[in-house]
Amino acid sequence: MQQPPPESPSLVEKRDAENILGTYKRTSFHPRAGKGAKLVDAEGKVYWDLLAGIAVNALGHRHPRLVKALREEANRLLHVSNLFYHPAQGLLAERLTQLSGMPRVFFCNSGTEAVEAAVKFTRLAAPGRSRMLALEGGFHGRTMGALALTGNEAYRKPFEPLVGETIFLPANDVVALESAATPDTAAIFLEPILGEGGIVPLTREYARAARAAADRVGAALVFDEIQSGLGRTGHLFVFQEMGVAPDLVTLAKPLGGGLPLGAVLVSERIASLVKPGHHGTTFGGNPIACRLGLETLSEIVDGGLLEKIRETGEWFGKKLRNAQKRSKGAIVDVRGRGLIWGVELDRDAAEVQNALLKKGFVVGTSRAKVLRLLPPYVVPRPALSGFVRALEEILREPPKEKIS
Ligand code: PLP
Repeated sequence: MQQPPPESPSLVEKRDAENILGTYKRTSFHPRAGKGAKLVDAEGKVYWDLLAGIAVNALGHRHPRLVKALREEANRLLHVSNLFYHPAQGLLAERLTQLSGMPRVFFCNSGTEAVEAAVKFTRLAAPGRSRMLALEGGFHGRTMGALALTGNEAYRKPFEPLVGETIFLPANDVVALESAATPDTAAIFLEPILGEGGIVPLTREYARAARAAADRVGAALVFDEIQSGLGRTGHLFVFQEMGVAPDLVTLAKPLGGGLPLGAVLVSERIASLVKPGHHGTTFGGNPIACRLGLETLSEIVDGGLLEKIRETGEWFGKKLRNAQKRSKGAIVDVRGRGLIWGVELDRDAAEVQNALLKKGFVVGTSRAKVLRLLPPYVVPRPALSGFVRALEEILREPPKEKIS
């Protein structure tokens, strides 16, 4: 088969600017190929990928197991309607229920859809209640229900009125949580590590207080593990690591091995309330995405990746904290564990992100001053130590503008 000719980055940018709705402010970076934790741009320059498609490419790029599975499935069926049976969904659901201890799974296509489904399921459990508790700085997605739970006014304001009434609480403030949970609360939505909100981990004490508050008022506790779950902290599920049993857990990002796939894990009680017709989707639980999900999950769990993530995370955390000590205040804070890290700076993170890109490191940002690192689980240590060296070099230059 003849390949189409490669297109120049400037032509690609021009065509996008002329035709694609302006919801994204893209960086002028053109990845065209990759292998493991490396990306190659249109000019052939090689980068360390420390963002993994915002926590999607857990096994890195072009993983042989995923390529093989994709080829096999593409020769069978690309799509099967949810009216009929296909083994891939059940196999992935079985693995997820065994590993999570939660008895049922609903599949959809994305994180926001998983949150949307979770909102509907919590309504079934608490009819007539529309008040929800969520966190300031929390992020749950862009559709109307998920947006209503997202603790960032800039995202919400243009689209109000939203669904129900949400009270936003400061993360890790147990007193505020306990007084906000009342008998008209339907659900408490928590991201166990606030991803978009600056990589802010919740404490165990807070998570347990949320469980107790939900029980006291008869509300559902929902853990949104879309960014932090499926191994990123070195544990398959953050709720297991924290010793808290939520009623619902939302998953997406790495779940489909790079293809769109989201899921909601539900407790026995929620499962008993959901009946045919209550929810559904044409594309959710696509056979190829589920097969890739199964391969990804097996590689994470059986391939020893969780232990590697924990060890790499401890080593990397020390490296980052040492860099902070040497940074003369340029690094204000370092937060995270496993392979989810936020490096809070005294300056605009986007500027540093661009300087890192020039030095061959792809990273994200979170809020104005935080660099966000979500590398693939296969990232080698030299990529991370190279990042720390490059960051220290960049931070030796005075900032264009300090942000207090
Ligand atoms: N929830 C969390 C914690 C997320 O990080 C995201 C995406 O970044 C979402 C929900 C929304 O997921 P999606 O972009 O797949 O709709």
